[in-house]
Amino acid sequence: MADAPPPDTTTQTDAVGQTGQQADPEGRRMALDRDISLLKSPEPPVDASARSSDAFIQSVVRDSATTSVENVDARVDSLLNEMTLEEKVGQMTQLTLSTISKEAHQDNPSAIRDHELSPEKLRDVVVEHHVGSILNVTGQAFSVDHWAEVMSQVQRTATEETRLGIPILYGIDAVHGANYTREAVLFPQNQGLAATWNLALAEETAAITARDVRASGIPWNFAPVLDLGREPRWPRLYETLGEDVHLATAMGLGLLRGYQETDVSDSSRVAATLKHYVGYSAPESGLDRTPARISDIEMREHHLKPFRSAIEAGAKSIMINSGEVNGVPAHASTHLLQKVLRDELGFEGVAVSDWLDIKKLVNVHHVAATEREATKMAVMAGVDMSMVPSELSFYDHLLSLVRDGEVPESRIDEAVRRILRLKFEVGLFEDPLRGLEQAEEVGSTRDRRVSLQAARESVTLLRNRETERGDFLLPLSDSQNVLVTGPTAHSMQSMHNGWSYTWQGGGAAQKMFPDGRPTLMEAVRERVGTDRMTYVPGATLTAPEQMEEAVAAARQADVAVVALGEGAYAETPGNLDAMALPEAQRRLLRRVANTGTPVALVLIQGRPRLLNDTADLPDAVLTAYNPGPEGGQALMEVLYGAVNPSGHLPYTYPRSSVGMRTYDRKYSEDQDTEGGMSGFDPLFAFGEGLSYTRFAYSDLTVSRDSMTTGSLQNGGQVDVEVTVTNAGDRRGKDVVQLYLSDLVASITPSVKKLVRFAKVDLAPGERTRLSFTLTAEDVSFIGRDGDPVVEPGAFRLQVEGISEPFELVGERFSRAEHTGDTVSSAE
Ligand code: BGC
Repeated sequence: MADAPPPDTTTQTDAVGQTGQQADPEGRRMALDRDISLLKSPEPPVDASARSSDAFIQSVVRDSATTSVENVDARVDSLLNEMTLEEKVGQMTQLTLSTISKEAHQDNPSAIRDHELSPEKLRDVVVEHHVGSILNVTGQAFSVDHWAEVMSQVQRTATEETRLGIPILYGIDAVHGANYTREAVLFPQNQGLAATWNLALAEETAAITARDVRASGIPWNFAPVLDLGREPRWPRLYETLGEDVHLATAMGLGLLRGYQETDVSDSSRVAATLKHYVGYSAPESGLDRTPARISDIEMREHHLKPFRSAIEAGAKSIMINSGEVNGVPAHASTHLLQKVLRDELGFEGVAVSDWLDIKKLVNVHHVAATEREATKMAVMAGVDMSMVPSELSFYDHLLSLVRDGEVPESRIDEAVRRILRLKFEVGLFEDPLRGLEQAEEVGSTRDRRVSLQAARESVTLLRNRETERGDFLLPLSDSQNVLVTGPTAHSMQSMHNGWSYTWQGGGAAQKMFPDGRPTLMEAVRERVGTDRMTYVPGATLTAPEQMEEAVAAARQADVAVVALGEGAYAETPGNLDAMALPEAQRRLLRRVANTGTPVALVLIQGRPRLLNDTADLPDAVLTAYNPGPEGGQALMEVLYGAVNPSGHLPYTYPRSSVGMRTYDRKYSEDQDTEGGMSGFDPLFAFGEGLSYTRFAYSDLTVSRDSMTTGSLQNGGQVDVEVTVTNAGDRRGKDVVQLYLSDLVASITPSVKKLVRFAKVDLAPGERTRLSFTLTAEDVSFIGRDGDPVVEPGAFRLQVEGISEPFELVGERFSRAEHTGDTVSSAE
């Protein structure tokens, strides 16, 4: 979040995305200053990763992150021994940058503002109150040079003016690139990245992000988001890696490795933060920061898994869920923060609160009567550091709680030890400004190429009907007269969404979008010229704008590209009151389609907004999620066939507001509609994504059609192989997805669940044989007692349209990995 004034609110004033017109009012950037070398380079900088997802996961866990800094524990102990109580409590206090800046940020003006630190405030916070951590920007991104100035001044004060010289641990949200460093290249938001299913690409975008964050003098990133995107209404869906556990875990580990690699003290790596632990993404109402009710089974089967793997892979910190799960706010949950996180998952890093969340135990959650009580509750539950973030109340309360004997100093020592260890591990004591020397590398052409590749591989073709001429509507040809219309056709904000130069992606972000990146309309115009392309807005996000002109132009055109979707938003301001796209947008689609001119619908949006009764009208449908700065170029290339689409949906695209289910639904949700049951009938299925070539699958083999549970328990494996052939006449990338169905189980099984995937790149006629290895973990599920179990019975393995049976015989066994406590009935 950007600075949130006044304290106790998360509301920001730059939340223009829901209602405002995003299209460029000033006719900005009409003359495109294009970096030709970028577009000419034929080879993508990152390979499609042909390796199986489990091999990738295992390698990240095996080479888990550590530090090359020596004697960390001994150094932590000796420093801790010297510290006063005040110094220790200060280390647990995290304040936002405004508290040490001349002007406290109040809103998000459209101008680019200068920022200046206040030496007096800085001294008061860091020297007098021993504060150990600072976060955030004052409302808008800084240049890399300004970051260097800020960080130098902050670290100089901390290391030269405080008694013990402990450096500040600065944290930032760099969630799709270093989005608060002006020169940094941004990437698609996570949801789009997940749609690439390209693990190497996830890792590479995160590696660039890490270097840019370090080049800004910052060693700690509040990413990756590992919340599962299973609730499509939630305004943070675009920050997630989709609805599926396996996909989100694999992509999340890709990001984690890119951020941390194997040595977090490296000058081009950062400590990562897994967020938001845990269950934040499943609010029952669909509204941000409202209650989640998650059964123990659901918690363990889904939400906990990506965190478990990332902790095994050495993640250095976690951020706590702002919401409540089953009636207990996560910040007050000893169960989640101690029993599960520490005792069961073995996490040893720092647990930082989310923004204002100790205060919210009082005025939002009503589980504490006073802030003092809330402070005790949260610290005793397991919060190591409080993102207070605007004043020193936490410091004052915690000091007095320890002095009064209400919080034992041993708990303070435990938290401070973790914080100091992190400071040592990232190398702050060796050089608090490690990484600044990389400033020149920020924003390189290669980074842009990676961003362009990510945007290209994220674009997902969901429908492509045959035309009257007998070919498909897409790709378009340069000789067609094209109408480009719709509110996202010419909007950099829609392509970026929130967390882009500003928190909401509004206000000053308008002035910071990099030059030379075309919107979709600009990219099409550049390709076919103004003679062949007409652009009419047709509608804003919420109201008609020259709609009659758009309809008239559609009549004259050979094809209409209608670009709909959302503007920019982040967190609670992005809450919806309806899941359908606003009426004006649907009307534009209907009116244009009714002219009889074929329509290619392009969706640029952070969540799958419903199309309702317009869903069947377009002849082609593409979704680009929030593709980032290169999205206009990438979309144009896919529309015109310069790039063969290879994105696959990381979520289920619902058809209606009563059918919003995830693909791994239960069998009972699959019943047909006769007899009043609503069947599972999404508009587009999870994993779906068409290509301009055709992939054929054959020879699905399972190494054995039956096996004993005993041999599985002793490490036995099942090998599954399948051949995929590019049976069309164009080179293309495909995502091979292996699903497992458990046909009978003591907990109602999912119809299917993804167990493996691999992205492949094949020339026409080329084929490849993929092999996947399944273990006990893949056939297990969380049983009635909360432990993973393997049961005998029939299974089915499926790739695309082909499937093979598989059977387990013998006794049921438990793969118990925890004490048998429940997870989510937190205490
Ligand atoms: C968000 C976090 C973010 C934090 C710091 C909060 O409002 O929930 O995701 O890391 O702000 O900006």
